[in-house]
Amino acid sequence: MTPLFLDLLPGEYPLPDAPAFRRRQIAEWVFKKRVSSFDQMTTLPAAWRAELASRFTLGALGLARSQGSADTTRKFLWRLNDGALVESVLIPASPALYGEPSDRLTLCVSTQVGCAYGCRFCASGLDGFRRNLSPGEIVAQVMAAETESGSRVNNLVFMGMGEPLANYDAVSRAIEIINAPWGLGIGARHITISTSGLVPGILRLAEDPRQIRLAISLHGATDEVRDRIMPINRRHPIAELIEACALYRAKKHRSLTFEYILIEGINDDPAQARLLAELARRLRARVNLIPYNAVQGLRFRPPPAARVAAFAKVLSDRRVPATVRREKGSDIDAACGQLRLKTLRGEGPGSPAAAS
Ligand code: SAH
Ligand code: SF4
Repeated sequence: MTPLFLDLLPGEYPLPDAPAFRRRQIAEWVFKKRVSSFDQMTTLPAAWRAELASRFTLGALGLARSQGSADTTRKFLWRLNDGALVESVLIPASPALYGEPSDRLTLCVSTQVGCAYGCRFCASGLDGFRRNLSPGEIVAQVMAAETESGSRVNNLVFMGMGEPLANYDAVSRAIEIINAPWGLGIGARHITISTSGLVPGILRLAEDPRQIRLAISLHGATDEVRDRIMPINRRHPIAELIEACALYRAKKHRSLTFEYILIEGINDDPAQARLLAELARRLRARVNLIPYNAVQGLRFRPPPAARVAAFAKVLSDRRVPATVRREKGSDIDAACGQLRLKTLRGEGPGSPAAAS
């Protein structure tokens, strides 16, 4: 397999002495006109087209499976060129997400095949880690979701499969392409990276001049709770994580978000809510409460609605901005890694078992 063309920035296109307008022209064919082969770049000399085609692959992924849900969330399972599977989820205007109702169309993208962090509740980690995605494979998820849906994505969250900060360089380059006017033109303020708490990555992001948003998957307000469900907490316990968040906040002058999945009997008691409120107030963070999305084969469950409401009330009583995220797409396994897992296990149409 030849290298992926989408991994390159225009300055790196292999055209010795080519004037800048040629590079712009190629970027336009790729990102604006969305051609699927070098041959379609008809303003380029034929010899160049042939040369590029012999040295690079243009397409990064194909649709393996797609699922729409009753609430219009749509999930895509992509097959990469080496056969690996990753997911993206398209989520139409979701005012509950960050409190800004709009014509927003959010895409949730994956950054790795599998995940090495092994959070106990998460489908992405169940199969272990296979590899990092390249920048082009991340960018291609946005382009392909736009092609499939016929609409433009204007908000991006790195909350699909994988730990984005563990694949920092590729994610950073992908954002450069997604951000660029010659690329996909989505502003940094409309891009959110979610991390399970990779402190060195948070510190690196704090130094990044781009105004990328940060969400922390907290899921527990004490080390005791977090240790039980998130192995990364043993490496970077809460105190260290919060200190990194404070530094990020101070450097970037940006607020951040705590994601908090509510799992029955694990992290849903009012004492956790009170401690969570303290942490959020200290950092002036907003909180997204997400009732757990059951994963087949795992024993975790979402709490009953009244318990979720009681948890949320503890936060609002303490004037912590908090939203309970409706379980968008729970009927299509929208939580990260679930559609892939089912397909790998050979359930449902489009799975390897069903195809053979
Ligand atoms: N690895 C990064 C980003 C991908 S996970 C991270 O952990 O933040 C994106 C979010 O989905 C995380 O907050 C994660 O905890 C959450 N998540 C994973 N499995 C889930 C499930 N079954 N139900 C609800 N949220 C889930
Ligand atoms: Fe990996 Fe995030 Fe899932 Fe944890 S929650 S296993 S870090 S993808």
